[in-house]
Amino acid sequence: MAVTVLIVEDEEKIGRFLELELLHEGYEVMKAADGREGLEKAQSGKADLVVLDVMLPELNGFEVLRRLRKNSDIPVIMLTARDEVMDKVAGLDGGADDYMTKPFAIEELLARIRLVLKKRGSSVGMAGAAGRDKNQLSVGKLCMDVQRYEVSYDGKQVELTHREFELLKVLLENKNIVISRDTLLEKVCGYDYMGETNIIDVYVRYLRSKLDDVFQVKIIQTVRGVGYCIKDEN
Ligand code: CA
Repeated sequence: MAVTVLIVEDEEKIGRFLELELLHEGYEVMKAADGREGLEKAQSGKADLVVLDVMLPELNGFEVLRRLRKNSDIPVIMLTARDEVMDKVAGLDGGADDYMTKPFAIEELLARIRLVLKKRGSSVGMAGAAGRDKNQLSVGKLCMDVQRYEVSYDGKQVELTHREFELLKVLLENKNIVISRDTLLEKVCGYDYMGETNIIDVYVRYLRSKLDDVFQVKIIQTVRGVGYCIKDEN
């Protein structure tokens, strides 16, 4: 399910530009050209995040935000044309999640959108980060490119065998979730695997020798009696 971003912006050129960039990133887009329409659409429940310009006809952005916050905690990123600290403070005090000062680099806005969605713990936020990100798994400095079958730590390539790779992939896909040995066994070796049941422990040991020992980190956590887990704070 894609994440829907509502753009409230009266300047058509900017609105159109934002729309194209967001569509390109895999978001769905709704648009409103004035404050009143923006407030209505933000309250409709159809959008997951609002990019809200401050200088708007009908209702200005701060007023839209103030009214919106009475009954909605939808993430809001304010756009302000005036580079004034007061605007920013007013925006954040009014319940905005973040703000951008115009003119801004689109990459920065996209990054902030991702960050705000992530902070809000939006699960749809993950799906909306477009197909591109589905193939990129990471925790801390550890990165996995599933499509290219590559793993690196801090930019340094790590050579893994097929099963080590598959094991690491399952753990990364289920970040912060403890996965039992049985589940790992099934996912990595197949449900009809008939060999040694401690094979997962063996692969974890191999992975640790290639990651933890080399880079002096502790990536894979052992949860006694249950299984293994890769946690975000690493
Ligand atoms: Ca404007």
